[in-house]
Order: sequence, then C-alpha cells, then structure tokens
Amino acid sequence: MKCSHCSKGTMKKTTIDNYKTKMNGKDIIVPTAHIKVCDSCGYEVYPAKELKIWENIASERKYCQCGYEMMERNKEYICSKCYNVVKKD
Ligand SMILES: [Zn+2]
Ligand SMILES: [Zn+2]
Repeated sequence: MKCSHCSKGTMKKTTIDNYKTKMNGKDIIVPTAHIKVCDSCGYEVYPAKELKIWENIASERKYCQCGYEMMERNKEYICSKCYNVVKKD
C-alpha cells in the first residue's frame, strides 16, 4: 500500500506500545496500537478496527477479553457473557 500523503513511501504495519493519541478530544494512551506508518514521510494511518478500540478506551468502558462489555459492580467489573471478573485498580 502506497502512502496517500507523499505517494513515494510504503505504508508499513507498525505496533507501538503506550501510544499517545487523542480520541473525541481526550488524551488517551493505547496499550498496544496497531497502525500503519509511511516509511518515507512518517504519515500515520489508523485502521477502522483500531479506532474502535481507541473509542472504547476514551469512553472508559471496560471490555472483557471475550469482547463483551463488562458491567461495573462495586470494586470490580463482571462480564455478562463469560462471568469473568476483573478487579478495579
Ligand atoms: Zn509518505
Ligand atoms: Zn467475557
């Protein structure tokens, strides 16, 4: 995939840990971001799937490993599908 910004470089899949970005006007840190970066000009492209994850982070909703949204309950979160329980920090 060619870069749409400089049309010289190639977009390379890149994984960045603790990626700082903004989502809905809010600063967030993505634990592991999967983005595409141009190897020539450094232009970044965010896949739709990735943006969805970032929105979840910005909304401060808690999601289970199984993909379901977790319900808040006192000092923990519980998954309504697999009943996985995660303690709040
Ligand atoms: Zn480029
Ligand atoms: Zn679950």
